[in-house]
Amino acid sequence: MIDFRLTETDQAILDRTREEALIARRYAREFDERESEMIPDTLPEAEEFYANAAPLPKPGPEDTPAPVMMALQAMGSYWGDYSVRLKRPMRGGLGNAALGAAGTDEQKEKWGGLLLSMAITEPGCGSDPSRVQTTAVLDEETDEWVINGEKIFVTTGIRADGVVIWATIDKSAGRAGIKSFLIEKGTPGFEVPHKEKKLGIRADDTAAYVFKDCRIPRANLLGLDESIPKKSSGGFRGVMKTFNMTRPLTGAMGLGIAEAALDFTREQLEEAGVVFDHATGPGGLGRLSAAADRFMRLEALFEASKLTVLQCTWMAGQGLPNNMESSICKAHAGSAVRQITQGCIEILGTMGVSCEYLLEKWMRDCRITDIYEGTGEIQRLIIARGLLDYTREDLK
Ligand SMILES: Cc1cc2nc3c(=O)[nH]c(=O)nc-3n(C[C@H](O)[C@H](O)[C@H](O)COP(=O)(O)OP(=O)(O)OC[C@H]3O[C@@H](n4cnc5c(N)ncnc54)[C@H](O)[C@@H]3O)c2cc1C
Repeated sequence: MIDFRLTETDQAILDRTREEALIARRYAREFDERESEMIPDTLPEAEEFYANAAPLPKPGPEDTPAPVMMALQAMGSYWGDYSVRLKRPMRGGLGNAALGAAGTDEQKEKWGGLLLSMAITEPGCGSDPSRVQTTAVLDEETDEWVINGEKIFVTTGIRADGVVIWATIDKSAGRAGIKSFLIEKGTPGFEVPHKEKKLGIRADDTAAYVFKDCRIPRANLLGLDESIPKKSSGGFRGVMKTFNMTRPLTGAMGLGIAEAALDFTREQLEEAGVVFDHATGPGGLGRLSAAADRFMRLEALFEASKLTVLQCTWMAGQGLPNNMESSICKAHAGSAVRQITQGCIEILGTMGVSCEYLLEKWMRDCRITDIYEGTGEIQRLIIARGLLDYTREDLK
């Protein structure tokens, strides 16, 4: 039975996340304004904070399952800020998730300690990754792959020690020709020309990559099975599985930002004397002010979206297939966080758009929830295929 009640251990972990988030938030505006710089991995307060922090209890089988806690902790961290962390975990890249899902034991052992970004998107290829133009050609003489191509908008692209890229070994084979390869920074022919400039999440290091005759060992094909040199679990399907966990987490991140916006707006409204009567509920316009009614609808949207994330991560924890659910929560959160942050801005008026407060930044930051890891439209295609039992060919 699904049960989302928190245990004492869960609560202690989430309280710690909140304390860390409150410190990170103090730097949010400053690093948003210094887009061209890299933010530090560790804030000045970190050492003292962790020296004085009580040890956290270890979760046991009676506590909330790890994937659900990961989502709740993501929500808690992003409530503080999208990019700033008191102390940044060193291996949380999207490429690490791909390595975990599709890498061999040997590859996990070799590269597991690196921070890995994931580069699929190219100037001419985004939503439809089967159009990847970056090529990987096997040089039989040297037993190396030669990589040529360009990738854009790579999250943690500057900070990462290496990248998992998608490249085709046979353009005529479409999806079947696409494989993933691990390339470490410093490999000749791997260049990082610039950090991207963006609407939101400006402190995040999103980068462009160029590969010019970049040679990597044959064993860098992700999921390589030595007995079948050109087959690997690192192909399209293998790495796509990564998204079943990263999509709900992306939803959770956006919802953390939306919750920050709701908390701020509630505080301002309460200060202005607006009364919230949850017993009356949204729609009870006769007894509620218009502002309270509008706000409570946004709160309800937040709760609904959070439930889709909790359900999806709970299924992951039970080992149940959650492909469709991961798209449901990503699509729902992507739309909800936009409605919530824009709704809060509309309720608060000039205060909502002023750079004196973080609300306008939260609106910019949460926009990404509905773009990367597959746009809202792409998630809705996946959901429709799942509900109607259609193949990719039936519905594209
Ligand atoms: C800040 C940021 C970070 C990113 N990080 C990464 C990263 O780490 N790694 C990476 O590989 N990529 C990353 N991306 C890229 C991101 O995944 C793509 O932007 C996204 O997949 C959409 O691709 P596109 O921008 O090429 O848009 P397009 O694919 O050109 O789509 C344009 C519009 O058409 C719609 N559309 C496309 N196809 C269909 C369809 N079949 N039916 C209906 N509508 C459709 C889309 O929803 C969208 O609204 C990042 C992007 C940003 C902005």
